[in-house]
Amino acid sequence: MSIVKEKDSKYIANTYARFPIVIESGKGSVLTDENGKEYIDLATGIAVNTFGAADSEWVNAVTKQLNKIQHTSNLYYTAPDADLAEVLCKRTGFKKVFFSNSGAEANECAIKAARKYAKENKGADYYTVVTLKNSFHGRTVTTLAATGQDVFHKDFLPLTGGFCYVEANNTEDLENAVKTHKIAAIMLECVQGEGGVMPLCKEFVKAAAEIAKKEDILLIIDEVQTGNGRTGKLYSYMNYGIMPDIITTAKGLGGGLPIGATMLGEKVQNIFTPGTHGSTFGGNPAACAGALSIINRIDEELLNGVNKKSEYIFSALIGANGIKSVSGMGLMIGIETEKDAGDIINECIKNGVLVIKAKSKVRLLPALNIPDNLLKKAIEILKKACEV
Ligand SMILES: *Cc1c(COP(=O)(O)O)cnc(C)c1O
Repeated sequence: MSIVKEKDSKYIANTYARFPIVIESGKGSVLTDENGKEYIDLATGIAVNTFGAADSEWVNAVTKQLNKIQHTSNLYYTAPDADLAEVLCKRTGFKKVFFSNSGAEANECAIKAARKYAKENKGADYYTVVTLKNSFHGRTVTTLAATGQDVFHKDFLPLTGGFCYVEANNTEDLENAVKTHKIAAIMLECVQGEGGVMPLCKEFVKAAAEIAKKEDILLIIDEVQTGNGRTGKLYSYMNYGIMPDIITTAKGLGGGLPIGATMLGEKVQNIFTPGTHGSTFGGNPAACAGALSIINRIDEELLNGVNKKSEYIFSALIGANGIKSVSGMGLMIGIETEKDAGDIINECIKNGVLVIKAKSKVRLLPALNIPDNLLKKAIEILKKACEV
């Protein structure tokens, strides 16, 4: 066994079932392990390395900032977080941004914003947040409560109260919840990522937006995985013709450094006042400088490329031997296979391709700029591994 694996199992808390390779370096969509073996990366560290490994533009943006100053705390003004917030607001129509360090924290902030808004506008008993069954919103005690999957709850009860769950794509179920609870917010992922790469249908998302508007309930879209170009638009809600009150994002925004962002719309733009929320690392200059370079590269041309690569993957996989179905949007794709997904993933690793799991599916989250020749090569290897 490698020294790294030995040390890891001895000293690192046992929360991850890691694949049996030690990744040492990478460039773009090719990663190299400690033995010098190369892999085409279709996972990007779970949709984080938006432009692949050690992307030079991103490295330059981060390095330039690191050479100036790495951190100041939020007791002082800095340029990178202000620049990033400006670009995010101008590209989306949101009014203000709160920066944190992860998806879970971005969601915590959204839930706090919604509860404070509901308390001030409807009454203190309007605190319940409706989320979807099979959703995933994070690992903190509150975002676990928001996550509509009992498997994640059971060892950590009691969770934060004030959450209820409705079935995805079931408008009647949502209407009932709104009738029977005093609701502060509806929170959902337009494509359930951890839940098996399941896009919500347009009618349901539109109905949720209408109910929210009519009842003065806040609509929160969790864009932690779907955001930052992943679905072929800058944010996934843009595929649905709606305008949420709050969106949260993280993963791909930082291009590989930790960052979370909660974007606040018209209704909640002034909900926070000094002291009501905060984060020591939030808005870190190096993370924000990197994120700014990422967001500025997600333009129409890049998004057209994302959609073309997506079409290629769908058409290559649909109907192929051993593949039952393909779901997803843009470069966020789930594959239902006849063979066990875990076995396929291990076969791919052996043959130099990294893919991951979502529930019982094989999940693909390649870099938004993965070169077509590498993508094609990786998809051929994946198809072979799926064959029965
Ligand atoms: C990954 C994920 C989270 C949690 O993000 P962390 O950065 O791990 O806290 C929340 N919501 C969705 C939709 C995610 O995919």
